[in-house]
Amino acid sequence: MKNKNIEPVPQEAQETVRSSILSALASGPVSAKEISGLVGIPEKEVAAHLEHIHLSLHRAGKRLIVQPAECVKCGFLFEKRERFSKPGKCPVCKSESIHAALFSVEAPA
Ligand SMILES: [Zn+2]
Repeated sequence: MKNKNIEPVPQEAQETVRSSILSALASGPVSAKEISGLVGIPEKEVAAHLEHIHLSLHRAGKRLIVQPAECVKCGFLFEKRERFSKPGKCPVCKSESIHAALFSVEAPA
């Protein structure tokens, strides 16, 4: 028999996290690391929430703005990369000094 209580994170908590992330984005632009600090979740979980928020915003006729991560050393832009996760190092110059991607929400027209 299935037990629904073994869900690791309750749905309500997910919703709370997402609305906190949305308010961070509204006052943004913010990086995943800043969102992690503001909302109190691990940085690696921020990307998954951003994916979800991206879709909900799209349905609401708004847009999640992503300023791509950029290599500090050579200026390479991580535009084609999985958009919400943090790159480890630059494919061009191998530098690990990467400006994190910044996220914000397009103001409703
Ligand atoms: Zn580089």
